[in-house]
Amino acid sequence: MSKIVMKLGVIMMCLILAVLLPLSFVADKIFSNFYYNQMIEEIAELSHKYAGSMTSLDDDTMINMFINLAYFTNKEIYITDDSGEVIAHTGIPIPLTKNELGQLSKGEPIQKNIEDGENDNVYLGYGHPIIISNTFEGAFFVLTSVDNAREPVRKVRDLLILSAVGAFFVGLGITFFLSRKMSLPLLEMERATREIARGNLNVRVNTLPNDELGSLGKAINYLAVETNEYRTKRSELFANISHELRTPITYLKGYANALRNNLYKTEEEKQQYLNIIENESDHILRLINDLFDLSKMEEGRINLQVEAINIIEILETSILKIELEIEKKGLNLVVGMDKDDLIISADGNRMEQIFINLFVNAIRYTTEGSIYIRAWGDKDNVHVVIEDTGIGIPEEELPLIFERFHRVEKSRSRDYGGTGLGLAIVKNLVEIQHGTVTVSSEKNKGTRFELSFPRVEKG
Ligand code: ADP
Repeated sequence: MSKIVMKLGVIMMCLILAVLLPLSFVADKIFSNFYYNQMIEEIAELSHKYAGSMTSLDDDTMINMFINLAYFTNKEIYITDDSGEVIAHTGIPIPLTKNELGQLSKGEPIQKNIEDGENDNVYLGYGHPIIISNTFEGAFFVLTSVDNAREPVRKVRDLLILSAVGAFFVGLGITFFLSRKMSLPLLEMERATREIARGNLNVRVNTLPNDELGSLGKAINYLAVETNEYRTKRSELFANISHELRTPITYLKGYANALRNNLYKTEEEKQQYLNIIENESDHILRLINDLFDLSKMEEGRINLQVEAINIIEILETSILKIELEIEKKGLNLVVGMDKDDLIISADGNRMEQIFINLFVNAIRYTTEGSIYIRAWGDKDNVHVVIEDTGIGIPEEELPLIFERFHRVEKSRSRDYGGTGLGLAIVKNLVEIQHGTVTVSSEKNKGTRFELSFPRVEKG
């Protein structure tokens, strides 16, 4: 039997006992009192009736009849005269005290308990005055042995004990049945969690009662599903990383080999090979830096230097860094920004990283036309739009482009030189700085990214 069943069982049994024991005690007391009261009532009534039916203290026949009656009804009686002297009795003659006599002579009944030292017995007694022709003539006492009351009380007590023991065992059975029923899902959950820890993520908890235990079971199932998803994503990521590294490294190896074996014809060709090696190394470095950044962001380990910054200033420095590229590609740059300061609470360097990533994409995926950069503020937010007239993104791809390594038109992506991580980094950086980023695009027309950040007062 499992420990939990034992524990639950013991707790429940203690509870049952805690209820049963005081209950039996109280029931016993109630029954005893009830019997004593009944007996007193009985002898009070008898003594009243007997005293009332006495017509003379000298009538021996009548007195004998009462003595016989007492014998048959298992009672004791004694009769006193008006001076308290016992004139007839069935074995326990007890003279009256002055006080008692006084009370009786006033017509009041008395109740007195008598200890019979000889038989080690206690009698309950009740006496009524005998009044004949309005004169106090004596008293009639009826006694009954406490033993008579003890007997039914004992029977009731035995019955109580028996039913308590019965209830105890029935309770015991029910308790162990219930606690077993409760502990089974727990045991199943224990097994399932061990399996999950061992890496078997297809295991599920099947017993799901409609209570907290069921919620726990569901949580364990959810954990298994999530861990499974995490594991799949992780292997996908490793596959992606290996894939991303393989191509540039193949280039590096090939061109290094060509150089070592002097497979070039002119000095110009040699320089070209060296350029390729340098570019591919840069690409690998970018990829590794991006991956490192992204993993830090996703684990929440990134340190932001948050302060009140003017987004216009950040945009201007970012534009300075890419102007040359735009010019080289023969594209137009159209900038339209609010004259007012647009203050947000963010990390300046990270904001620059966001803008540069989006600018580089806009330049990379645009062959002719313009790149528009706009910034404005409303009451609550600051908005930045980066729009181009480039190749665009098909509608069905739009929800996916913020995912790591997701590229539209895979075959061409490498020609553009991206790592496939730029937008994932943008989204992460925007979100950890409490902003939002949305995209809209039309194939062969252009793409528009809009960023919004909560506006703050100049600090
Ligand atoms: P990459 O390094 O490949 O550019 P990103 O994460 O920055 O990776 O972008 C993901 C994909 O989204 C890109 O491969 C590209 O296909 C598409 N994309 C991003 N920006 C633009 C844009 N301005 N115009 C057209 N396509 C874009």
